[in-house]
Amino acid sequence: MKRYYSEQLLNDINQRIDISDIVSETVKLTRKGNRYWGLCPFHQEKTPSFSVAPDKNLFYCFGCHAGGNIFTYIMKRDGLDFAEAVEVLAGRAGVALELNEGRSKREDEIKKRVLEVNQAAAQFFNQMLCQSTNPLEYIKGRGVNLDTIKQFQLGYALDSWNALEEYLLKKGFDQHYIKLSGLIKRGKTNRYYDLFRNRIIFPIAGYDGRIVGFGGRVMDDSLPKYLNTPETDIYSKRKHLYGLHQARDSIRKENQVFLVEGYMDCIKMHQNGIRNCVATLGTAFTNEQGVLLRRYAEKVVIIYDGDEAGQRETLQAAQVLQEQDLKVDVLTLPAGKDPDDYLELHGKEEFLHYIQNNKVTYLEFKIDRYINKAQEMNLETQKDIINRVKSDINALNSEIERDYYIKYLAQKLGLEQGLVYREIRAKKRDILLISKNKTSKYRDNIEYGNYSLEEKILAAMLKDPGVYSRIQDTIGSDFISDPGYRELIPLCSHRGQLQQLIKAEDEKISNRAARLEFIMEDIAEIDLVQIDNFISRVSMARAKKLQQILYDKLEILKTEGDFNSIMKFIFEIDTILNETREGGYR
Ligand SMILES: [Zn+2]
Repeated sequence: MKRYYSEQLLNDINQRIDISDIVSETVKLTRKGNRYWGLCPFHQEKTPSFSVAPDKNLFYCFGCHAGGNIFTYIMKRDGLDFAEAVEVLAGRAGVALELNEGRSKREDEIKKRVLEVNQAAAQFFNQMLCQSTNPLEYIKGRGVNLDTIKQFQLGYALDSWNALEEYLLKKGFDQHYIKLSGLIKRGKTNRYYDLFRNRIIFPIAGYDGRIVGFGGRVMDDSLPKYLNTPETDIYSKRKHLYGLHQARDSIRKENQVFLVEGYMDCIKMHQNGIRNCVATLGTAFTNEQGVLLRRYAEKVVIIYDGDEAGQRETLQAAQVLQEQDLKVDVLTLPAGKDPDDYLELHGKEEFLHYIQNNKVTYLEFKIDRYINKAQEMNLETQKDIINRVKSDINALNSEIERDYYIKYLAQKLGLEQGLVYREIRAKKRDILLISKNKTSKYRDNIEYGNYSLEEKILAAMLKDPGVYSRIQDTIGSDFISDPGYRELIPLCSHRGQLQQLIKAEDEKISNRAARLEFIMEDIAEIDLVQIDNFISRVSMARAKKLQQILYDKLEILKTEGDFNSIMKFIFEIDTILNETREGGYR
């Protein structure tokens, strides 16, 4: 069922809740003028750059540039999705969610009951583990101590066909909900039996610690080695990460997460004091999981098994995470070793040290992997490998980085650097286009009050419709170098529309919209002379750039060109000159 919340409902909630109250729960705020300031809950800092504007019910951090309203704040702070945030805040505001809004009552009821079943089952499994000598010895033999068993609520499913079902029925649970939990299964004779038998049980919790599903592992070599709760109303392995509940504070604090493959690896990392660690649940890493991690950290280190399957999964996960704009590093352990083994042998400090010294970037990993997989290194494989990483290298923001990877690639392929450079950058020079350089993230260059001219112009545009159309009619919005603002401007031509853009679905736009609200209040009016100066500066810069491109192209043609391409070029110049004359500013 698609969740829908009316504008009316969201406004009601927004009006009844003061953002400074919510923020104050975890952040000490000090009032200065009409704003509050405090240490940002989303990045580590020593001087406050996190600001709250109570009159607008918005927040914005001038350090890490997170910004938004009460809904986005709660989502980010507690790792909730939008529906969950609405639920929590509606509860606080005393606003009732209508039946047709959000989840239906029926769905809520099912969810609640199944969670109760899971909770009781986890307790039962845990009890059984503590009472059963062999499984307990097995777990201890794997180096897991009693504290960890408690913290992760590890358990044991008896070697019986219906011990769990009988227990739950005796506890008064309706068989209907036990079925929905996936913990019992219908057999060929239509009788139900326990899904997990004679297995070590790993309860899987949601971000909030409520148990949504279970994983079970055998203690010998029988198959399947791992078994999971099937997909249920509350559990989808695509959407959960093992250990997230235990790890989330630490992940946020470190701004980094270690991603491992197995339950046991994750548990052992935690037991050894490396708490910013989660495990995938035996599936290919999903987009949903990427989004989930992105809420807590900016950096991730993938530590999967060193075997072929592990390395393949690593590349897949790295690609998904990379697309979420996370900084991805990869650690490859010596073949046959997993984090559990390494920690067992060397302990925490040495392991962290090992990670630090041996992790490689996503792109290094990708290059290495293709090279290691190549059967033999010949012209074809060299070309193929270059092609596979070409777009990654070209997409890099900085020339220094590009240079680094080209050198790296050249060295690994045993090719001359200049050659690889030309191969990577080829085609680019044939395209007569003003390249729009991707700007690096805003993160590092703009602090409080230190707004760029571009931002001041944007603020002026939103404040004054006259300025807005003057700029749109002359230089358009191509002058905006920040991709977030570039997306925002077509959606919003006046400041009144900004609040509507602060929505859960798009963090990038939300952050920019909140920032613009703050800027508009902070800066003085810009006069029209300044605006016109800006317009002519942008136009001049464009003309200059175009000139340079034409000049470069001519240089190339001088040495490589034949008669036809020179004629074509002359036509191009003619067209461009005409456009420039007619379009004035273009
Ligand atoms: Zn911050």
